Amino acid sequence: MHYHISVPDPQSRFLRITYTIPEIQSDHIEIQLPSWRPGRYEIQNFAKNIQFIEAISAAGHKLPIHKVTKDRWQVGTSGEKEVQIRYSYFASIQNAGSSYVDEELWYLNFINFCMYTEGRISEPYTVALELPDGYQIACGLPAAGMNVLAARDFYQLVDSPLLASESLQKCEYHVRGVHFKIWMHGNLKPNWRRIERDFRRFSREQIAMMQEFPENDYHFLNLILPNAFYHGVEHQNSTMIVLGPDDEGEGLYSDLLGVSSHELFHTWNIIRIRPAELLPYDFTKENYFRTCFVAEGCTTYYGDLFLRRAGVLNEEAYVKELQVYMKRHFESSAHAAQSLTDSSFDLWLDGYEKGIPNRKVSVYHKGALVSLILDLYLRKKTNHAKSLDDVMRLLWVRFGKPFVGYTLEDYISIVEEVAGGEIGWYWQECIFSAEPLENRLNEALAFVGLQMSVFSNGNVQLNIHDDFKAKLQRDKWLGTLQVLTVEEEEE
Ligand SMILES: [Zn+2]
Repeated sequence: MHYHISVPDPQSRFLRITYTIPEIQSDHIEIQLPSWRPGRYEIQNFAKNIQFIEAISAAGHKLPIHKVTKDRWQVGTSGEKEVQIRYSYFASIQNAGSSYVDEELWYLNFINFCMYTEGRISEPYTVALELPDGYQIACGLPAAGMNVLAARDFYQLVDSPLLASESLQKCEYHVRGVHFKIWMHGNLKPNWRRIERDFRRFSREQIAMMQEFPENDYHFLNLILPNAFYHGVEHQNSTMIVLGPDDEGEGLYSDLLGVSSHELFHTWNIIRIRPAELLPYDFTKENYFRTCFVAEGCTTYYGDLFLRRAGVLNEEAYVKELQVYMKRHFESSAHAAQSLTDSSFDLWLDGYEKGIPNRKVSVYHKGALVSLILDLYLRKKTNHAKSLDDVMRLLWVRFGKPFVGYTLEDYISIVEEVAGGEIGWYWQECIFSAEPLENRLNEALAFVGLQMSVFSNGNVQLNIHDDFKAKLQRDKWLGTLQVLTVEEEEE
């Protein structure tokens, strides 16, 4: 399977795409453009950006092609062994899941515009890019020649976004044998010394906790815009991040750290530790699942926790981040009718819009708060001998590493194995119902000397108590797993 992509007129924003399908053995084939993209669990409309499409034989004859669903076509092959699908795609959107081209940049998410042939999704794909001279490519896919990339299957192809331009900036570092690259496109002068130091710290901390990294290389792909923006999407061995505005120094930097640490942890949690309902991805329709509070909730909780443990955030800054999740939860969904499992299922319905009042909860914010409750419960019960870290490691060893999906029941059973017994109250109050969270949260926080006050407008104040015993517990909870020597830092 082969793709050829060119941009004859960058100002027009159109990609010109040729999809070559070899070794055809039937008189018709069906080709499918994904109807959603991993990381965003709602139906998309990528096909509306296709301006024209045609099917051509090797000799250049037109073949019959017609739509059978909004993003699936049937092609009559007339006995041809090889068929080319030629089409144009309007690439004009700059968010972390879209595609965009202009005179200076190619930003591609192959999921937006690459199709697979039914029954042949697991075959290898190559992509040749007709790039302008001097362009550098940033992408998680391995190179297979000059401006040619190779994917072992369609899943890898569409899980590997790409930035290419003449003015990409880059910084590299190694942690535990993993080669990390941070790429930036935009109008800014990155402080690479500081970025490398902080990224190295949280990468080390994450790998120290999980004990191994699923990939040999990893790419942080950053598109920095002049306007305000905050969006990141996780991928197999990369993440696509769009941030702005480019003139906002410290605010932009703290967003960059927060989103990068979150997305890196997804390399384990959801990319590999995958809900069974999403393995393999079915790109033709909704893939309902109830465990997004694990995939996004635990990841949101750990994103900032790793920054604190790695010493990138101080205790005060970390507590402020916690206060932000609490505020977001209590302001908008403290009285919501749905449970976390209901809202996870309904992501496909209205998960990424405001929605009607008091209906859903955020799998990110409430998900992070119930992760916090569980972590502190396990730590208190076992005097820090066990924690949510053990749950994540067991999920990795049993489900992520062998790459078999986990079910909600699997998660419950691993948590209770770590807890050393049933914790019905947790599932009932925090996960399966819409019970208020305030008392359980304060019960958990008291162990580490924190006290949360929720005001009637949903505003939240999180205070640290000056208590010696609680401070010790807090240090164990927020303490690093890694003691970095100067030499290791300079590695
Ligand atoms: Zn996420």
